[in-house]
Amino acid sequence: MTTGIIFGPEYLRHEQSPTHPERNERLAYTMDQLMEEGLFDHPDIMLIPPRKATRTEVLAVHDPGYLSFLEESSVTGGMIDYDTAIPHGLIGDALLAAGGAVIAADAVIDQTIHNAFVLCRPPGHHAGRSHGGGFCYLNNAAIAVRHLQRRGMKRILILDWDAHHGNGTQEIFFTDPSVLFCSVHQFPFYPGSGQIDEIGSGEGIGYTVNMPVPGGSSDQVYQYLLTEIVIPLAEEFQPDCIVVSAGQDNHFSDPLTGLALTARGYATMMQEVCILADSICLGRLVGILEGGYSVEGGLPYTNLGIIAAMAGLDISAIREPDSLLDLLHRSVSESAISQVITITGELKEILSPYWTCFR
Ligand SMILES: [Zn+2]
Repeated sequence: MTTGIIFGPEYLRHEQSPTHPERNERLAYTMDQLMEEGLFDHPDIMLIPPRKATRTEVLAVHDPGYLSFLEESSVTGGMIDYDTAIPHGLIGDALLAAGGAVIAADAVIDQTIHNAFVLCRPPGHHAGRSHGGGFCYLNNAAIAVRHLQRRGMKRILILDWDAHHGNGTQEIFFTDPSVLFCSVHQFPFYPGSGQIDEIGSGEGIGYTVNMPVPGGSSDQVYQYLLTEIVIPLAEEFQPDCIVVSAGQDNHFSDPLTGLALTARGYATMMQEVCILADSICLGRLVGILEGGYSVEGGLPYTNLGIIAAMAGLDISAIREPDSLLDLLHRSVSESAISQVITITGELKEILSPYWTCFR
């Protein structure tokens, strides 16, 4: 069972500013940690370099006018929003991130590897058809999904566990019943969308599933939602492949968010998604990095845990630095789980006309 890690030094190139939360240290520290743990010496881990996505691959998701805007702004410099500048040369780096996701999809379909994790920057899940935002330019996960479908995979499950709602991905697939989009995210929070009554429209009604959770939600909350919502839906939907928009900004040490997951919690969650993929879609699973801004204390350990789980390695040694344990205890909200149990009941009722597992 081989896990591919899609990464190249080009993923360290994009930078809005050295102090921006989405800076290249995010991956520099992660790669240091993976090397220190000897992950790349393991026979079940394969490092795969990225390539740029083609125009055809990008235009399967994004409007031509938006791609032209990104290309032109990459020459002149530009701005999407206060947090999302377009530095010179952006388009080349954004195409490499999207192309990494496409390579991962190809390798999983071709069975050169069992599953893949794309350690890319910039992230993508806030990018819609004709807009970027929230540090995102091209929607890497959506581009991978359309590529998987072009290669014959009919139904795709996207699990977006980034702390922020994947508004761009939701918009792209909102009317599409071939893609089941499930998002767990802190709410209320940026970007403001992702309430339980946003369930898709037209033919896609019932195929968008939002699980908003309160600040302080811990590993227990995410385990509950996997068991109660994601796994039953996946078993009924029977996807041909699972794509995880893996944002690691739910970690309790993340400076931008207010959730309370641990690195072990992330590893366990990915382990369960792997078991799910093995049971319903021959193990086909592509993970794509989204957010995660605790560059030293969180992201290297969560990414390590996720990759170890995907490769079927022992995750019992995945743990936080001792110096952070006090912060963990202060971050967890004891009342979050009871709020989430209530929200889950309401969500099942809203989805019950579309899914027999909730009747
Ligand atoms: Zn995020």
